[in-house]
Amino acid sequence: MKPPVFEYHRPESLREALELLATLSDAKILAGGQSLMPMMNFRYVMPEHIIDINRLKELAEIKRVHDGIKFGAMARHDQAKKSEIVLEHCPLIAVGMEYVAHAQIRNRGTIGGSMAHLDPSAEWPALLAVHDATLHVQSSSGERDVPILEWSQGFMAPNLAEDEMLTDITVATWPARHVYGFAELARRKGDFALAGAAVLLDFDGEVISRAALALMGVEVGPVRMIDAENLLVGEMPSDELFREAAEHATVVAGIDDVHASASYRKKVAVVMAKRALEQASNRRKIRALAA
Ligand SMILES: Cc1cc2nc3c(=O)[nH]c(=O)nc-3n(C[C@H](O)[C@H](O)[C@H](O)COP(=O)(O)OP(=O)(O)OC[C@H]3O[C@@H](n4cnc5c(N)ncnc54)[C@H](O)[C@@H]3O)c2cc1C
Repeated sequence: MKPPVFEYHRPESLREALELLATLSDAKILAGGQSLMPMMNFRYVMPEHIIDINRLKELAEIKRVHDGIKFGAMARHDQAKKSEIVLEHCPLIAVGMEYVAHAQIRNRGTIGGSMAHLDPSAEWPALLAVHDATLHVQSSSGERDVPILEWSQGFMAPNLAEDEMLTDITVATWPARHVYGFAELARRKGDFALAGAAVLLDFDGEVISRAALALMGVEVGPVRMIDAENLLVGEMPSDELFREAAEHATVVAGIDDVHASASYRKKVAVVMAKRALEQASNRRKIRALAA
């Protein structure tokens, strides 16, 4: 399948790209093209104009900022997987990237494209949710920040106006001692997951002092399990505690589609949440043994 006819624009600067977005009607940004091109080939979308932002190198950086990490919207999945900054300060993201599609897609696909496409089963939204990310969007007339939990406005509907571009995303980093876990179930390796969970834990001695748990694939956007997090904090890790915390995943709505029923996805989410919690706790044990 070939895409329908469109007019191609390749701006050399962010300003030029934002001007194009403001003036062209029916325009779509082209980032990695890994979701947009198949959707055009299948005629799900037929934009008149394509604005290719691959020349905007200033959007491709991953860098350390004040107390976080800033990802330019054009940072590729594979770049995040291999980034020394990510591996050192938010290693959960590097782990999560291993589950995104296949090597070829990870080489081209971008964090900005994934967050603008906003597939409910994508890994990025859940990974950003546990890191309390802020998404920065710009247009030719202004800019604004959107907290990650206000990003999803419905099914594949990000908090983005037609003339706005997602330019960068900042995640808050946790202390170096924190531990993390990620688990998902997909029918085949590289497929979108039916459901998954991302976890960050910090400890004060033997007691969990801070917890972040997010689910993917069960609602239109990532879900932070605040009740489960509150249950974990102040407790020592145990099989019983993790089971109880993971059971909170049953409160999500679930998504019914051709791939799985809502009730099945919810069951999968419970199992994935427990696995991610166990992984985090095991990482801490291994680290203690190695010290
Ligand atoms: C076979 C296959 C399997 C896949 N499996 C997975 C998977 O398991 N997990 C997963 O997370 N993803 C998966 N993907 C999707 C992949 O991660 C894409 O890279 C991602 O969804 C889109 O990123 P992109 O950079 O390619 O965006 P594009 O395809 O270029 O764009 C996607 C959409 O976002 C808009 N857009 C892009 N950048 C911006 C921006 N900066 N600001 C505003 N709007 C923007 C575009 O206009 C378009 O509407 C898979 C894709 C394929 C083809």
